Amino acid sequence: MEAAHLPAAFGFLASVRTDGGGIPAAVFAARGSRTDIEASGRHQHLAATLVHAPEADPDAARARDGDTTVVLAGEFYNRGELRSVLAANTPADSDAELLLRLLNRYGPHAFRLVNGRFAAVVGTGARVLLATDHAGSVPLYVRMTPGEVRASTEAKALAGDQAPRGFPLADARRVPGLTGVYQVPAGAVLDIALESGTAEAHRTWTPPLARRIMPEGEAVAAVRAALERAVTARVAPDATPLVVLSGGIDSSGVAACAHRAAGGLETVSMGTDVSDEFAQARVVADHLRSRHREITVPTADLLAQLPYAVWASESVDPDIIEYLLPLVALYRALDGPPRRILTGYGADIPLAGMHREDRLPDLDTAVAHDMATFDGLNEMTPVLSTLVGHWTTHPYWDRDVLDLLVPLEAGLKRRHGRDKWVLRAALADVLPEETVARPKLGVHEGSGTTSSFSRLLIEHGVEEHALGKAKQRVMRELFGLTVAGGRHPARVSTAEVVRSVADRFQRGAA
Ligand code: AMP
Ligand code: MG
Repeated sequence: MEAAHLPAAFGFLASVRTDGGGIPAAVFAARGSRTDIEASGRHQHLAATLVHAPEADPDAARARDGDTTVVLAGEFYNRGELRSVLAANTPADSDAELLLRLLNRYGPHAFRLVNGRFAAVVGTGARVLLATDHAGSVPLYVRMTPGEVRASTEAKALAGDQAPRGFPLADARRVPGLTGVYQVPAGAVLDIALESGTAEAHRTWTPPLARRIMPEGEAVAAVRAALERAVTARVAPDATPLVVLSGGIDSSGVAACAHRAAGGLETVSMGTDVSDEFAQARVVADHLRSRHREITVPTADLLAQLPYAVWASESVDPDIIEYLLPLVALYRALDGPPRRILTGYGADIPLAGMHREDRLPDLDTAVAHDMATFDGLNEMTPVLSTLVGHWTTHPYWDRDVLDLLVPLEAGLKRRHGRDKWVLRAALADVLPEETVARPKLGVHEGSGTTSSFSRLLIEHGVEEHALGKAKQRVMRELFGLTVAGGRHPARVSTAEVVRSVADRFQRGAA
């Protein structure tokens, strides 16, 4: 059975070489079946391992034409647009096939046309193209050695002591703790000459810097239309969408649009023994008549899953991990067959939803800063859920939604004493009034994650003023063990790492 509700591949490890050579052994946190592919051209040999849902068709994750081979993880959301610029009689191709045709027509500029959630490697002639979507939402890493480019959607697949030192890559970000491994920037295509190892990055998207003035009504209608379109593009035909729902305006808006798009809805909320938003989520679930589930994760279990959050996100930012940990725990608790999951993640970034006061200059400073610094945090990575075989997608970080939300003048984001005003107004007719008016609560707050993690460190003797540093140290240790060191997170104990970090802090050795 073909699973049209999931992308053809979750991720890959690819090796492109001037000579032959086999397929490198792949390590993925993403769970699924694996399919090996090989393609030889005149100037290069491409070998890759795809990781994909067992029922997906991995053939749809690759495409080949003459000297060009495309390998794609993830999916596109503007297929209709893309088809419209290709040959009129284009059949319903896979996304990899669409990309191949776009490359034939536009060269590497093809990536400027795509609105998607993907990472791609393209072997063409004597070159290798490595591309991310506008947001870099499927992370892509590279290690280059003489005669070989190795690329993977997970950095851990490129780690390893025996691996030769990689070339430096001026245009990409080094991955701290993994020598010779670089991350392809968000919204970029890295164009590499295989023989010489020279690489050039070209931006394919950049967050808008200018601000746009729109009449209230027009802005509200545009936001609603953009969100509806982004959600509709992410809902699979013939399947009930599943939305992770906190009952805040962001995820409730996605839930309302998903219900409108699919005619049915499933929702799930997570909480812990210390804190939850169940009542608020229930209001929305009842309103939309969704099939709703509540999942309670005991705090001790939640914190014990920290190694999984770091292993999956390959991030060491303690704030980010605190946002991601409750979601990882939620995805891991979702048993049953692989699902396509929609989230409300990331709406706060273009709308400065975390910004809790009235001054517009500060609001726009927050938007400009966050849009300039999101790259490399891996907040949107699908691995958080492919870890257990589910695919997530984030409508607020749709390229067209961002291109609308980011540039809205700050007075539309904060208005009439409300944060995220334009979004609230856009959803007022499809959600209960109390949901539309509900103040922002971050997932790390609603689940008690931040405070529980702080308490754990304090119990181990870390002083309050040193909490930030200690959390940073814990994340780095966990990254070293799981991502760089290759240890499975099931064999890493949060308690032990916390204890050793706390000991070092108490001895003043940190
Ligand atoms: P937030 O930090 O509240 O913006 O959370 C980001 C996204 O994660 C939300 O839009 C929801 O899709 C999801 N989420 C947050 N909290 C919960 C929760 N308690 N249960 C289920 N999903 C949640
Ligand atoms: Mg929230």
